[in-house]
Amino acid sequence: MAPSTQVPVAATTDHDGAVHHDRAKAAARRGALARSNPNLSPDKLSIRGVVAELLSVANAEKALISLGVGDASSYQCFSEGKPFSGPLLESVRAGRFDCYAHSFGFPAARRAVAEYLSKGLKSGFCESDVFLTSGGTQALQVTLTVLATPGCNVLLPRPGFPPYESFCEVYNIEARYYDLLPQRNWEIDLDQVRTLTDCNTMGLVVINPNNPCGAVYSPNHLHQIAETAGELNIPIIADETYGHMTYGGSKFVPMATFANLASVITLGSLSKRFLVPGWRLGWLAIYDPLGTLKQVKVATELLMNVTSGPASVIQAAVPDILSDSHDQFHKKVLTVLENSADILYGRIKQIEALKCHSKPQGSMFMMVEVDTARLRGISNDMDFAKELMKEESVLVLPGTVLGMKNWVRIFFGTPADLLIDACDLIKSFCERRLIS
Ligand SMILES: *Cc1c(COP(=O)(O)O)cnc(C)c1O
Repeated sequence: MAPSTQVPVAATTDHDGAVHHDRAKAAARRGALARSNPNLSPDKLSIRGVVAELLSVANAEKALISLGVGDASSYQCFSEGKPFSGPLLESVRAGRFDCYAHSFGFPAARRAVAEYLSKGLKSGFCESDVFLTSGGTQALQVTLTVLATPGCNVLLPRPGFPPYESFCEVYNIEARYYDLLPQRNWEIDLDQVRTLTDCNTMGLVVINPNNPCGAVYSPNHLHQIAETAGELNIPIIADETYGHMTYGGSKFVPMATFANLASVITLGSLSKRFLVPGWRLGWLAIYDPLGTLKQVKVATELLMNVTSGPASVIQAAVPDILSDSHDQFHKKVLTVLENSADILYGRIKQIEALKCHSKPQGSMFMMVEVDTARLRGISNDMDFAKELMKEESVLVLPGTVLGMKNWVRIFFGTPADLLIDACDLIKSFCERRLIS
């Protein structure tokens, strides 16, 4: 029904007047920029933005070595013998998975994730606890959206993983930062967690194994974290994207092991351990023996019903990908990573003005402290990264992006020879700049 037919005759003039008025306003705005969400402001630091800026100043004479972003999938030393294309091709060929998947994921894929996450737990996850998402990033987006209430805040690690902060800005969630302590193997400052928590705190984000520090938390520390979260009555958002990516004798223990103390929402994806970040398959799993997340689960179902998850053909390959039959491949990847961690730690230790407090035991990253007072022409981590790019074309991520000024994050999911070259270049760069 056209609106004008509803308008009584006497009001027509007014109504038309209003219409004319709107049209005049619209005409005045012609060509003006459409408005956008003010929470999406261009001056916020993002990994991709900073990396783009650094890439633009690279030394054109030297080949780029990127230790900036965490994607090992393109290197042959990792991808050789990668067994996951078979199951994917099979699911495409079968032709049965061209349909829409269920909003929460195909039952067989959810069951496979539940079993994968339940290994070693007394009573594990079940199919209905698991929701498949488009990468781990959508899993954390969904989790924050579902837990957000007006005026709420969330506790994030510093240094951290920037997408958490970015989503907090978009959804008007206050981000509060607790410190990871370099001199204590990057453990969580739990006293600070207690101080930061109030009745509006909706969750505690714990990243283990840790990006960007390479730490792997002991069962004892995980127990302390769960105990603290339980006392404070806040759920733990356990980012286990690097689950099982540990070496050098440290062992991954899932946060859900301690779900009798605090409720746990586990986040994960195929991106890192399985080296298929572009496949965009992740999950969130709600483990709630205490029963405090019932409402959260219903909200998750409602949200998942209006968003869409990962591609159905990739979901169909999940049971095979997560099965135990690829252990050899995972072992090989860990051997390469452990060697890289040893090389990086050993080499950085020999560079004056740089300091790393502990050798990575998991993930693919190490944090390095930069003594800027000892380096000529460098007053902060951004300068360090920029000058290093200008002279050596070696890309590292300035810690400021992660909340740690005068530190840099170095990615070591690269072939050993490339990493050695990069370390040599970083060393000669620092030597040239050293104030003795
Ligand atoms: C990579 C990563 C994710 C998720 O990555 P996706 O590519 O979206 O699967 C989540 N948390 C951390 C800490 C990560 O490093």
